[in-house]
Amino acid sequence: MKFQSINFTCESCGAPLKYSPVTASLKCEFCGTTQPIEQSNEIIYEYNFQEALVHLDRQEPQAIDKEITCNKCAAHFTLTPYSVSSNCPYCGTPAITDFVQEITPKSLLPFTFTQEQAKQRFKAWIGSLWFAPNQLKEYIDGEEKLQGYYLPHWIYDTDTVTHYRGQRGDIYYVTVERTVVVNGQPQRIMQQEPRIHWTPVSGTVQNSFDDVTVGASRTIPHTILDSLGSWDTTRLIPFNEKYLSGFESEEYTIGLDNGFEYAKVKMDYIIRQSIRAQIGGDQQQINNKETQYHNTTYKNALFPIWIAQFKYKGKVYNYAINAQSGKIVGERPYSIMKIVLLVGFILVVILGAVYLDEHPEVLEGVIDTPSSHSYQYVR
Ligand SMILES: [Zn+2]
Ligand SMILES: [Zn+2]
Repeated sequence: MKFQSINFTCESCGAPLKYSPVTASLKCEFCGTTQPIEQSNEIIYEYNFQEALVHLDRQEPQAIDKEITCNKCAAHFTLTPYSVSSNCPYCGTPAITDFVQEITPKSLLPFTFTQEQAKQRFKAWIGSLWFAPNQLKEYIDGEEKLQGYYLPHWIYDTDTVTHYRGQRGDIYYVTVERTVVVNGQPQRIMQQEPRIHWTPVSGTVQNSFDDVTVGASRTIPHTILDSLGSWDTTRLIPFNEKYLSGFESEEYTIGLDNGFEYAKVKMDYIIRQSIRAQIGGDQQQINNKETQYHNTTYKNALFPIWIAQFKYKGKVYNYAINAQSGKIVGERPYSIMKIVLLVGFILVVILGAVYLDEHPEVLEGVIDTPSSHSYQYVR
């Protein structure tokens, strides 16, 4: 399907403008001219979840290939389904197009650091990894490997009421008689031993959740996307496509209802903590529970993420950086060679220690040397 695309041009030289995390404005990469982005006072609303589900025509997002023509070089290219902005593959000019899903983001968090800064963080992180293959470190040195993405997220508020049944365990002590052997002679002694007394319990806990964030994109694995939090949603600003200029961005591919299922899993952990606190005692068991969700609202927003994909021995590893907080999450390959070398080294040390144990005379010479300690030798 054909789509219109827009981009912003420099008043001074006509070159395309891209969003710059450094100046928080549009910036011309050619002449350096900046153009401020007008600040909006628009309120970021939270919408009624149940009502939206009733009125949504389709729950599952649809995939549409968006054919666009570059405003600068007139090349035709197709954006991947769900993509809202990208750069022309021929001349690099930003192309921003329309959303097709029924719910569009009304707010976003802008990028707070550049690709170069992201790369530095990334390299420091990889340097801190044990057993990372050297190819991974070299790979990051390459150009254009880190892509900036605005990925869609659902943000839910909800009040929960949970009825539960369980067991409260209280520890008490009993005195038991035991036979122990002292100096080869059996002796009877009295010992204190812990026991748990379980009492059936039931009750109700109420929790109030504010801004539970759930990734609504399948571009990177959900485990990675959800590990990137926490996002400071107090910094959300009203949506403006100027922030997308020069970055990849997407609309949701995980629907409003499925997103809430992920949110339930996130909230479950907190609800369980509340139940355990209410049960009290030394140990708690939760046998069953049922949660009702009230006053549920949602927002759809775009969050900034630097993404890299590293191919190693036929497998793709995903890396992502939260471009608000700087937190890095990644799947990681292990260098078998480095592990083999370390295991070999440990074996040598152990064998060395065994040898020293059996031949203590070897150590003496080491201990006599003032500059070294025996433990350094065997370590
Ligand atoms: Zn310019
Ligand atoms: Zn172009």
